[in-house]
Amino acid sequence: MENLLTGDVLSQLFSANRAVADASTHAMLLEAILDNAIDDSHASTIRPDRCVLLKTTQERSPTDFVIVAAWDCLSEKVPAVGTVYNVQTLPILRFLAGGETVVLRGAADTRLSDLDRVMLAEATNGLLLPLRAGRRWAGALIIGMRSETPFDATRVQYYEALADVSALSLYNISSATQVARVSSLLNSLIEHGHYAQIVTDPNGLITDWSPAAEALYGYPIEHTINKPLSLLAPEADAETVLEQYRTVAREQRTVQQQAKRIAQSGQMLDVLMTLYPVYGRSDTVIGVGEISIDHSDRAPLQDAIQKERDHLEAILEATNDAIIMLDIDRRVVTANIQFENFFGLPRYSLVGRTVDDLLRQVQSKPELPNALYNIFVTLSGDDYGSAAGDLEIEVNSRRILVWYSAPVHAHEGTTLGRLFVFRDATQEREADRMKTDFVSLVSHELRTPLTSLKGFTDLIMDGDAGPLEGPVREYMKIIQFNTDRLISLVNDILDVTRLESGHIDLRRTSVDLTDAAASAVAPMRLIFEGKQQSLVMHIPKGLPLVWVDLSRLIQILTNLISNASKYTPTDGTIRVEARHIVEAADLPASAPPSLKLPMILVSVHDTGMGIAPEHQAQLFTRFYRTPTSVKRQLAGTGLGLSIVKSFVELHGGNIWFESEVDHGSSFYFTLPIAG
Ligand code: ADP
Repeated sequence: MENLLTGDVLSQLFSANRAVADASTHAMLLEAILDNAIDDSHASTIRPDRCVLLKTTQERSPTDFVIVAAWDCLSEKVPAVGTVYNVQTLPILRFLAGGETVVLRGAADTRLSDLDRVMLAEATNGLLLPLRAGRRWAGALIIGMRSETPFDATRVQYYEALADVSALSLYNISSATQVARVSSLLNSLIEHGHYAQIVTDPNGLITDWSPAAEALYGYPIEHTINKPLSLLAPEADAETVLEQYRTVAREQRTVQQQAKRIAQSGQMLDVLMTLYPVYGRSDTVIGVGEISIDHSDRAPLQDAIQKERDHLEAILEATNDAIIMLDIDRRVVTANIQFENFFGLPRYSLVGRTVDDLLRQVQSKPELPNALYNIFVTLSGDDYGSAAGDLEIEVNSRRILVWYSAPVHAHEGTTLGRLFVFRDATQEREADRMKTDFVSLVSHELRTPLTSLKGFTDLIMDGDAGPLEGPVREYMKIIQFNTDRLISLVNDILDVTRLESGHIDLRRTSVDLTDAAASAVAPMRLIFEGKQQSLVMHIPKGLPLVWVDLSRLIQILTNLISNASKYTPTDGTIRVEARHIVEAADLPASAPPSLKLPMILVSVHDTGMGIAPEHQAQLFTRFYRTPTSVKRQLAGTGLGLSIVKSFVELHGGNIWFESEVDHGSSFYFTLPIAG
């Protein structure tokens, strides 16, 4: 057969051979096949959609095959391990008798019966490979793909070689004929020319030396025959190498490894090699064969990659966050020590496992919350979205975790998998709570003396303590003004702390907006007069009642109207309007999308200094004041709008604004209709 396997495909086959030979259970063997499956002649690996490993019960003339391992990307379709098939229940098996590979072609393939199609699930292309070790039967391998690309000759040959090694592994025995059979792989390697073949007797004396061995190690054949193989080993390893050869001969098994060799020139080489027993007639071991390829050019690269990996691992281990990453096949690639600490799930039981396995483990621990399960279920199948949130767990101690999850991309943009990071925010939250409690306590304590201060100031100003002479009235006015400011500041701070801790209960009733607006503007009349500003109210009669907490609504209106006055120069106009909005078309253009309708829209317009576009985004942020208002020394704390926004949103409404510098601003908010 023409050898189609070249370059990278052969290298892939070499590592496949290694993984397959290392497998010690059927499941591991299946994994090794899956992990080393290729999708084209460039040897990019791709997991088949379906893979079923069958073992025969009779080695001479098989009629019954039993499933020993199976995988399907739609896992519910996996046939059960232990199920026995024969030509009646899986007619396609009749082709195996010929010992040839059957290339399957999906729906159009007339050789397939309905029973076969059940076994292939929705695979449209695939292979049925006989697993034979010499004259003995090992079983069969079914590979299925749901893609439209048929298996080309290179791929078929690759899988045949893989099947040959798998057959050996399935039996876990070797015989002369099997080695001959495996030679489809080994011959591919040798014929390709880059792979050196050396044969020794059972004691390690060289009996055969291929031209590629000569090219690789530099010794001509006449210098090697009958010499011990230790000739090629670094001096310190000589005895170990010979012992290894003897072990292969004695234990009759195949060994794959990476080793150092010395060429005739004295150059040190890194080689990848397979050692296998060589059998004479009557199945006795007459020697040991070695296939090796030079790996030196890759070794430094691999060292560098390994170093890089070690660095990353060290960083991962040192971080305080719990980190777990899934690959594109939804398998756990890595989980750090914190993950183990936070969730009590040992890493060794996770790494390499599927997300389903992870979910099972999460579920089996009653102390882990459902929320964790949901995070993994929802996001593991999502290739694009990011998400974040909070999570409370109590495994060894109670923890509040702030989590974040996002897909991971390679630099060229392909998705590599998904990362989940969990940060322990317990202390942070605790400190936050203590701060809020403290501020709230202080503000409460300040309120009592302030109330008395205000009461007596008002009394004195009303003349109840006797007539106010000369400048005393002016001084008292200043005291009164600042006491009011202090009270409103303390009230604002109390509101902020209550909003932060979620301790605000709305006492909703049906409210007439006209009354609420009148209550809000009444105490401000003097201010408008002082600044010669005109206040215009446009609240239509018959406007539906709103379903709100009256005192909070007055607070919202007071804040917006007093801002409008404060940030508008003398002679300006403040307009307060309300409208019943039924259709989106009736909304101002600046309204955010998808507002709940119908509702009542309230707006406060002014002809003031406006807000520059670059300062608009931060306007509702706590303590934010525009540089213009700071520069003009207009009194304020920057708390009002953030409180207003929270209250509007608590009522289920929205708030936004439009503004133009030196022309004025319009603040809009929506309120739910009563009933
Ligand atoms: P305060 O008015 O106490 O500073 P607010 O939270 O009510 O705090 O307002 C935050 C900032 O937004 C103000 O400092 C001001 O810069 C700006 N601002 C609010 N309302 C207006 C308005 N109507 N016109 C211009 N700027 C405004």
